[in-house]
Amino acid sequence: MLDCIFCKIVNKEIPNYTVYEDDFVLAFLDIFPHAQGHTVVIPKKHYDNFLSLTNDEAKLLITGVQNAMQKIQTTLNPDGFNVGWNENPAGGQVVPHLHVHIFPRYQGDGGSSVHSIIKNSGNKTPKEVFELFK
Ligand code: AMP
Ligand code: ZN
Repeated sequence: MLDCIFCKIVNKEIPNYTVYEDDFVLAFLDIFPHAQGHTVVIPKKHYDNFLSLTNDEAKLLITGVQNAMQKIQTTLNPDGFNVGWNENPAGGQVVPHLHVHIFPRYQGDGGSSVHSIIKNSGNKTPKEVFELFK
């Protein structure tokens, strides 16, 4: 995509600090890190979001995420990770090129868990929501 900042990184028009790379993904350090070693993993081809991937592409992306995590583990020796992505603007996505965030976590770093992303369960009980899946 012409105006996409992450496509420009893939095309080397904008520099990046690469952590891991293979045919399908590029993993590089986030320029405004929320943790030491905060990394984003992107498919080299532009996709808006995760649901745009085929199952096979999703497997390649997740493999890239695991390999990047392995690299970070070996290099920075964190005590844990939070891994995930913001899907669409409602999910907090700002850069419109699918990217998976890897946040290395360190004992006592003051961070929280994925449960802190949202606390608004809506007006239906889990049982009522389950009925909608039938
Ligand atoms: P999101 O809110 O999920 O769309 O996150 C976008 C992420 O991209 C943010 O964490 C930004 O700090 C990061 N970011 C934006 N521009 C760059 C860049 N040129 N290099 C590395 N990371 C970037
Ligand atoms: Zn793009």
